[in-house]
Amino acid sequence: MINLDVDVAIIGAGFGGSLTALVLDRLGLRPALIERGAHPRFALGESSTPLADLLLGELAQRYDLPRLAPLAEYGTWRQAYPELPCGLKRGFSYFYHQAGQPFAPRADHANELLVAASHAAADADLHWLRADFDQFLVNEVQAANVPYLDRTELTEIVAGPRWTLLGRRGDEPCRVTAAFIVDASGEGGVLARQLAISCAPDGMRTNSRVVYGHFRDVRPWRELLAMRGANLDDHTFPCDAAALHHVFDGGWMYVLRFDQGVTSAGFLLDAARHPLDAAVPADDEWRRWLARFPSIAEQFAQARVVAPEGGVRRTGRLQRRAGLAAGANWAMLPATAYTLDALHSTGNAHTLHGIERLARALARAWDRPELADEMREYNRILQAEISLVDPLVHGCYRAFGRFELMAAFTMFYFAAAHTCEERRRRGQPAEAFLLATETAYCEGLGRCYDRLLDLTRRGTVDDAGVASFEREVADAVRAFNTAGLCDASRRNMYACLAS
Ligand SMILES: Cc1cc2nc3c(=O)[nH]c(=O)nc-3n(C[C@H](O)[C@H](O)[C@H](O)COP(=O)(O)OP(=O)(O)OC[C@H]3O[C@@H](n4cnc5c(N)ncnc54)[C@H](O)[C@@H]3O)c2cc1C
Repeated sequence: MINLDVDVAIIGAGFGGSLTALVLDRLGLRPALIERGAHPRFALGESSTPLADLLLGELAQRYDLPRLAPLAEYGTWRQAYPELPCGLKRGFSYFYHQAGQPFAPRADHANELLVAASHAAADADLHWLRADFDQFLVNEVQAANVPYLDRTELTEIVAGPRWTLLGRRGDEPCRVTAAFIVDASGEGGVLARQLAISCAPDGMRTNSRVVYGHFRDVRPWRELLAMRGANLDDHTFPCDAAALHHVFDGGWMYVLRFDQGVTSAGFLLDAARHPLDAAVPADDEWRRWLARFPSIAEQFAQARVVAPEGGVRRTGRLQRRAGLAAGANWAMLPATAYTLDALHSTGNAHTLHGIERLARALARAWDRPELADEMREYNRILQAEISLVDPLVHGCYRAFGRFELMAAFTMFYFAAAHTCEERRRRGQPAEAFLLATETAYCEGLGRCYDRLLDLTRRGTVDDAGVASFEREVADAVRAFNTAGLCDASRRNMYACLAS
């Protein structure tokens, strides 16, 4: 019988759960980490952002985790851990495709958008190969002598003055008692089930699903652009060293290249317009989507799937949202409280933001009655953040059919992300992820989101409608636009948002 008595039981050893365990251990609390599966294992959620890297670096510094600090930038990662796979991410690139037509580069770049997030490879963001990244973190947990129970199936969680978690690790029964639970089980949604909290996507506007895999022999998109006569000199960074987005009416595709020759790719589809058809196998669906866009098909012509085991996978609707994300003696990490979509790579930065806020709250109020208030506040802010990211993403889905509208609306994300990075570098971080509790920003976003829904509901949007929407966005983000966004003279090629 495994018997553990700890301060905090953390359920789920993804990167979020492992990092929380390391931070709480450094705070002087006694955590234990419980994982249903075993590492290494396939996971989605690979692309980091400047904000994610800043948060990771700060957590490493504040909680004296020097082995994690190099993971916050491509240059230091490659130097410190050359054997740990990763991919170079210089920024975000977007390319607009029309069904049945090859991509045709334009001199004015009207069907492309590049937003650089770093000056050079050394200070760039990364893609994390989650199987290896998560394994690395869980090794750190074990090296710190934090109890780690993998392959452990929890069968019962009993609430009380202390929690009792009962389960089995293989043939061995286990019992963990803890004062506090952090639910980092992601879609596992362990506490939501236990506490009968609804995770229905009620009120969420994004409605998407994903078809995905890891591939080898995916051609660099830059090669195909060059063959079609694109002016690559205008590109502010190599467009493949990015979270590369192929955008089309009804969805989009991410393409994330890793240094070791693996490429992670997935189609995210508007599930209302393209509902899951269970009669079509996942790899057939994958091929059908490729066939619809000739240039993407060319990029993937030689590609072969290498993970996950069994080939291309897909989901039904991704979105879920817990009605309550924390209580007096428990909290969910963001990716446990909700799932949205991969657009703009918000998930990992949000998870890191959640870990930062949770650790500070526990440090302030551990073992004190004020902890209940802290957790109420944690829930309030997390719910506001979810309510912000949802329209940021859904607005883009509505605009995918008219690239100029999407490019304009995307500026809300970049303005918020850049403002948060700048404030953080100045030592005055925003209260919430992506300015979710700043009235002026949220009101501007709300106005433009409503306007976007209105414009796209009416069908084809004329050039005057597009121009007026671009002006409205520029006005709404002005107070948060220190990066020169919304500037027509840049012709969708933004040099560098790195502070
Ligand atoms: C299609 C898609 C693409 C995405 N792409 C990006 C991206 O590019 N960039 C980005 O920033 N974010 C992205 N995200 C979001 C990202 O996946 C999450 O932010 C991230 O995975 C959260 O990590 P985590 O460790 O909190 O949770 P997870 O990675 O979900 O880990 C949860 C862990 O809990 C374990 N678990 C589950 N149930 C139980 C149980 N009952 N008992 C014990 N353990 C359990 C699981 O086995 C797993 O190890 C994407 C999301 C989706 C859906």
